[in-house]
Amino acid sequence: MLNGGQRNKKRYSVIECNRLVDGVDGLFQDMPVGALIFSLIRADDFKLEYANHEATVLLGTEHESCQGLRLGDLFFGGQERRLTRNLLKVVKTGNRFESDELFYRNDSIDRYTYRLIAYPLSDKHLVVTLQDITKQKRLEEELRESKARLRALTETAFEGMVVHVDGTIIYANPAFGAMFGYKDSQLVGLRLVDLVAPESREPLVNAISNKSEYSFKTSGKKRSGALFPIEIAGKYCMVEGQVARIAVIRTVPERELVKSLEAEIRELSQLSNTDGLTGLVNHRHFQDCLAREVERSRRTGLPLSLIMIDIDRFKDLNDRYGHQTGDAVLMRLAKILCEGRRINDIVARYGGEEFAILLADTPPAAAAKVAERLRARVASETIACREHRFSNEVTLSFGVASCPLDASEPYDLVYAADSALYEAKRLGRNRVELASSSVNSKSELLLLADPLAVPIRQ
Ligand code: GH3
Ligand code: MG
Ligand code: MG
Repeated sequence: MLNGGQRNKKRYSVIECNRLVDGVDGLFQDMPVGALIFSLIRADDFKLEYANHEATVLLGTEHESCQGLRLGDLFFGGQERRLTRNLLKVVKTGNRFESDELFYRNDSIDRYTYRLIAYPLSDKHLVVTLQDITKQKRLEEELRESKARLRALTETAFEGMVVHVDGTIIYANPAFGAMFGYKDSQLVGLRLVDLVAPESREPLVNAISNKSEYSFKTSGKKRSGALFPIEIAGKYCMVEGQVARIAVIRTVPERELVKSLEAEIRELSQLSNTDGLTGLVNHRHFQDCLAREVERSRRTGLPLSLIMIDIDRFKDLNDRYGHQTGDAVLMRLAKILCEGRRINDIVARYGGEEFAILLADTPPAAAAKVAERLRARVASETIACREHRFSNEVTLSFGVASCPLDASEPYDLVYAADSALYEAKRLGRNRVELASSSVNSKSELLLLADPLAVPIRQ
């Protein structure tokens, strides 16, 4: 191969010294592209007259051996015939010809790509420039392959993918189209925010404009207007020189959906079982618990106790301080009734100012102790509600009944506890009465009436 720096350029600059090539040598010799001059020697044959230094390098041949080369010595078979045809056209029409040609150099086993441009000089001569574009071609090919790979990936992906600039879609894959009920082409030009539920538009716009990466769950909006749960993740990227974003969208899998629905149902049923003012179990749910616990007590033979509680002279308190203060007292009492309860105890708001406590596995005497502790606690408590402070003013009356001692059915158990409560009212209020007249239970209770007595449960 020639090395121009080491050789006498003048010596090798001219292959065939005629006037024409002499004139161009000074112009072409140092050009960074290969320059060749061919002359038409017969009706369809071209002979090489001149090659500049870069041309001999590109041909991979010694300068001397360039002498007298024909087009057919440089290109073979179909390629030679095609080039001859085109070069003939150049000298005949005077029009330039350009093509990218594969080339096998003498000094290499590699395949090169040269950009060949032929310019007419006269009706028998033409200049051909050669430029090595092998690297550029390879890069173009790699880019084409990588684009094809990427396209194949996006087109077979299960996830929806869009590329958008400032929120306007410039590409959407088929999965995205199928997800949202559009043909891919219909999506180009649409705004991404128009494809999510109205409440998600603002968060999405904020995420797109402020975050390089984001991910959140929302509802997608199909072309039909139907909403469906999706998860959307976005990332910043450059596409053909401009700032763009890729968003990947997947429909939330059914099992995740079922989970979140279950959680919602749990929350709703929690709400429907709860009294809005006090947060205690409401009357309806209490009835269910009562039925379940009576049944369980019957099955296991273990005692179940019910404490019914009514606020003493609550109407007076309402009349004097207003219903809002009355409500605040109800909330405070609900809290006190829950203090120290066991995990299975059920504390309910039975009615307006009536509460009920269901104690599983608890005999009447122990239930009476619980009631007595609560009675003493409330009676001695200073209840601060709104602008009022009630010291020893709020008291409760308690009625206690048990299964199986006093009843074996839910209705009878409530009736028995209610009767005991009525008795507590009749006997002066702020006291605990047991449905059964068990001497033992009552005497234990009397002992506990001392407010300094040790609390029964902590
Ligand atoms: P006692 O039980 O000691 O016989 O007298 P009482 O004044 O408490 O009598 P009663 O049970 O007849 O009155 C209940 C009162 O409770 C009537 C009503 O003003 C009040 N009340 C019921 N529900 C609520 C409520 O949700 N909020 C408020 N503030 N008051 C209620
Ligand atoms: Mg009442
Ligand atoms: Mg009352």
